[in-house]
Amino acid sequence: MTATAALQSARGTPVIALGITNSANARLMTRVLGGHYPLLQDLGQLEARTPDLLILDEAMLQRHRELIQRLRRQHEPMVLPVLMVSELRASPRNGNSELGHTVDDILRIPSTRQELLARIGNLLRLRHLSREQDNARRDLAAMVSALRTFNDCDQVMVRARNESELLKSFCQSIISKGTYQLAWVCFCQENNDGPPSVHARAGRAAGCAEGMVADWQARLDRQQADSREKPDKRQQVQVLNHLAEELHAMPGHQGALDQGLASALLMTLNTDIGATGYLALYSDRPDHFSQEECRLMDHMATNLSHTLNTLRFQQERENQSAQIQKLAFSDALTGLPNRRYLISFLDDLLARSEPRDSPSAAILFVDLDGFKPINDVFGHETGDQVLVQVAQRLSHTVRDSDLVIRHGGDEFLVVLFDNPRNQPRQPSGDSCGFARMAEDLANRLIQSIQSPMMVNDQEHRLGASIGISLCPDHGQDASAVIQAADNAMYDAKRSGGGCCHLYSPQMLEKRLQRLSMEAQLRQAIEREGLELHFQPIFDLASLRITGTEALARWPLENGEMVMPGDFIPVAEETGLIVPLGNWALTAAARQLQQWHRDGHPLRMAVNLSVQQLHPHGDANHLAALVRPYVDPEWITLEITESIIMVDPVAIEALLHQLRNHGFKIAIDDFGTGYSSLSRLQHLPLQTLKIDRSFVNQMDEEGKGRAMIPIIQQMASSFTLHTVAEGIETESQYQQLLSAGIDSGQGYWFSRPLPEASFRQLLDAPFTDPRKDS
Ligand code: C2E
Ligand code: CA
Ligand code: CA
Repeated sequence: MTATAALQSARGTPVIALGITNSANARLMTRVLGGHYPLLQDLGQLEARTPDLLILDEAMLQRHRELIQRLRRQHEPMVLPVLMVSELRASPRNGNSELGHTVDDILRIPSTRQELLARIGNLLRLRHLSREQDNARRDLAAMVSALRTFNDCDQVMVRARNESELLKSFCQSIISKGTYQLAWVCFCQENNDGPPSVHARAGRAAGCAEGMVADWQARLDRQQADSREKPDKRQQVQVLNHLAEELHAMPGHQGALDQGLASALLMTLNTDIGATGYLALYSDRPDHFSQEECRLMDHMATNLSHTLNTLRFQQERENQSAQIQKLAFSDALTGLPNRRYLISFLDDLLARSEPRDSPSAAILFVDLDGFKPINDVFGHETGDQVLVQVAQRLSHTVRDSDLVIRHGGDEFLVVLFDNPRNQPRQPSGDSCGFARMAEDLANRLIQSIQSPMMVNDQEHRLGASIGISLCPDHGQDASAVIQAADNAMYDAKRSGGGCCHLYSPQMLEKRLQRLSMEAQLRQAIEREGLELHFQPIFDLASLRITGTEALARWPLENGEMVMPGDFIPVAEETGLIVPLGNWALTAAARQLQQWHRDGHPLRMAVNLSVQQLHPHGDANHLAALVRPYVDPEWITLEITESIIMVDPVAIEALLHQLRNHGFKIAIDDFGTGYSSLSRLQHLPLQTLKIDRSFVNQMDEEGKGRAMIPIIQQMASSFTLHTVAEGIETESQYQQLLSAGIDSGQGYWFSRPLPEASFRQLLDAPFTDPRKDS
């Protein structure tokens, strides 16, 4: 029997099979019944098409007995009624013996039309009742089965820990009881572009789920267009109890049909978080889904929606806390792990290592040399890009197993791990070997940072100072080990930078001393506790004092005098050089005003630090400090070559500003830097101060003696005034004089003096320091 034929006889007008041998009787019957029921006259078709009632005479019954009995058995417990037609004349015995077995009723003919129809009506009612009963029994069985599925799925939902696991087990549970043969779950795309995608599937024809999804989507769209109203989400339970009949509108279901699936149920999964989805169940039984079962399954879908909601909420929370964790442990600019990460990491490592263990890691504290001026001059954006490039260079230089960390500002940390496989550990603990390895790495890191860096078509040059500490040798916890590396870095920086130092406990002591010096110096500047000493600058030819250089001194309460060599580096490191320098300029101008009033028309040289020019990039404030006392014309600002190297373009502009205010500008310590005179020729310079080291060398034979005349020649071709520093002997003086140098200063003539002594020198009658005069 084909599914279609069974459906027609089951749901349409009852079909009656007619098997009467006597042709007159057969015609009569056909005439009476034909108007009421579809008739099946060829009993050969019985196998192919089961009728709802058979009307047979004795001869036909005999001929088809076996087939009829088989069909009746197949139909049980539903009744396939048989009405036997028997001629009144014939012996009724045969027919009677069939009654109750193969035959349900006997009609003696001739009979009336009413009687025939009444008998037929009764038998069809019997058939109908038995079918109803059968349906009820099946529905009950289906409900029991559905309830079991419901229960299984509940268990799955309770146990599920993530969405994909839940959906997979859910579909599997649905088909496991044999009630349903296919289940799938799909979800709409978040932004609604593209068809919903299948997230889980199980059972027969599961591979064709995409086609089925598309069918349902189209069907829902059609319904929505037809109703022209926003459909109530919860009413979107869709039943298709006869798939075969809907195939024309749902061509994507061909595969399902081919594999024997016959009815389907689709339920909406509404969730508060994430996309809406659908759950579909398929059965191989036509007309499977009773109203009650639909309600039960919809209930199950609602439970699934709740579970999805809970899981998605949990997932969202987990994602959020993972994100927060990530943010808390990484540096936003470079993407490197941050200090907080390193601390928790190192504390773990230290907790694991034995107290007498050889080092298990080295911490390299990397501090950039020359970063601050780049940041100040080119702005933070450029500074940021430089830092990103530094991070990349560091990461490329270390092994994959080592760690690079952004500590903050222009400070990075590199953690080098002792690899027991490459470095077999000595029983005594091979600290030295590992420290040497760390120093090698530090030197490679310094090299990698020193090569020029391009940011926005501008070349930048940086250096790095690195401090190394060993873990656990140099600290019991992470902060202590990092602090030790920091102290070592500070020591490296103090020694001029561009190198690496390994931590030693004495470093801390030195650093503490400097810290206390910083605090005292700050106080001394605030309370105007510094003094200026003045070293005369004299004209070499006439030996007359033409000017003086103001040099800072720091007198302590115990009468000791701290020299600039000890406190200027601290002031430069800490930024105190700005208030200190400003004070010196003001004090020098005030002093000069006094001397001018007293009839000594001297010039004043004042040392200027690069930080006094930056970050404001404004020279006006320096003029404002001087103007209340003297015209800036009288002041020569001494700058070192290194200032110019930081950022030639910006410095040139600033120097022009200073020049416009009237200041004269001198290059101090000339010859110690890298700049050539040709490089300086664009700058508005008036004076070149030749470094003491050249003057020192004059007493020696050879190269040293030759340098001064060369410098003098170049300087005069640029029309620069020359001052030789550190003249200590008469012979030096004589050589400088004959080389054509304009002015000089040095112990031979006079040491730097306190104001009172300097004034005595000014007021005293001229005495020639030359021995032979
Ligand atoms: P500088 O600008 O090169 O100053 C000259 C230094 O040479 C002075 O040292 C001076 O005392 C010393 N000197 C002068 N003649 C001779 C000599 O014949 N032989 C020897 N061996 N030394 C001589 P001082 O006063 O100790 O200053 C050292 C440095 O400190 C200065 O070097 C300057 O760079 C810095 N400095 C001093 N005062 C200030 C200031 O107010 N601001 C800034 N920014 N730096 C300052
Ligand atoms: Ca100077
Ligand atoms: Ca100098």
